[in-house]
Amino acid sequence: MKAAVFHGAHEIRVEEYPYPKLPDDGVIIKVNSSGICGSDLHVYSRGGRGGGDGMIMGHEFSGDIVEIGKDVTDVKVGDRVVAIGGVGCGECYWCQQGQYIKCSKLSFLGYGIKGAFAEYTAIPNFKIGMYAEKLPDSVSYEEGATAEPLSVALYAVNQVQPKPDDICVVTGLGIIGICVIQILRSRGVKTIIASGRRTKRLEIAKQSGAEVVVDAAKEDIVPVVEKVAGSRKADVVFEVAGVPELFHKALQMVHRGGVVDLVGLYMEQVTWSPSVIVGNDITLIGCGLRWDLPGAVELLASGKVDTKPMITHEFSLDQTKEAFETQLTSQDAIKVIVKP
Ligand SMILES: [Zn+2]
Ligand SMILES: [Zn+2]
Repeated sequence: MKAAVFHGAHEIRVEEYPYPKLPDDGVIIKVNSSGICGSDLHVYSRGGRGGGDGMIMGHEFSGDIVEIGKDVTDVKVGDRVVAIGGVGCGECYWCQQGQYIKCSKLSFLGYGIKGAFAEYTAIPNFKIGMYAEKLPDSVSYEEGATAEPLSVALYAVNQVQPKPDDICVVTGLGIIGICVIQILRSRGVKTIIASGRRTKRLEIAKQSGAEVVVDAAKEDIVPVVEKVAGSRKADVVFEVAGVPELFHKALQMVHRGGVVDLVGLYMEQVTWSPSVIVGNDITLIGCGLRWDLPGAVELLASGKVDTKPMITHEFSLDQTKEAFETQLTSQDAIKVIVKP
């Protein structure tokens, strides 16, 4: 089969690659659509842990089941599915409970396990309703490839459970930030203030239901929130950008007793005093590695979330390097999808 193999910063080459081995507890999927994640871009532009030479990235994908392991009973060949690929150690308390996602030795699809920028990918621990779901006919493969980032957004909102009259701030307008806005809207949240960069993203955030949209390249979000919320301040800040400066701003924007949910991954260190949390009784939450994929597919099928306007570019597998460069640099790019 063909796969897009990573060979160090800005080096991805499409090569002949061994067909994956079928796991007893998993399936092999013929990949239809595979999205580029922000975390993939970090690896692509800086190099992976230990160099990352020879790895295949890609964890936001959809496709058709072509082979089924002997322990898997809930799917048939030809089913259209989305899945999250993860393997735990198999021995710790959490793995014994079937919650391998909490295993401290978790390896993840695209990082440790060969990912979905390839014609075929093997998904271990495959279980519909857990970390995999069938796609209804009304949801396209391309939308299916957005179910993983959407599931992160859904998990973030569920962690906080905002009320309709809460003032919510979303910093960072990649697909996850915009999905957070749409989910908040679908739950009746009226006041959403969002900040991001790149004109296209700001437009779609506005269409998605953000009441106020701030272009972070031109304006500081803190005084905007002060103006909208007044002395009340924000109830919840979702920090989706992973930018140290926005971490500090989130702590400034939220009121005493408010919630800051960190959704973006930080590549840089942040220096701060935990006294801000203590003194202001702020709840600081991390949203990592816990997905609700079935919930995400349901949001797509019901139309409560529409990711179609966020799918801005499609490339063939042979063009994977171009796809990465586009996701990294194009002003118009929100979600770039590779179609093996
Ligand atoms: Zn991702
Ligand atoms: Zn384990």
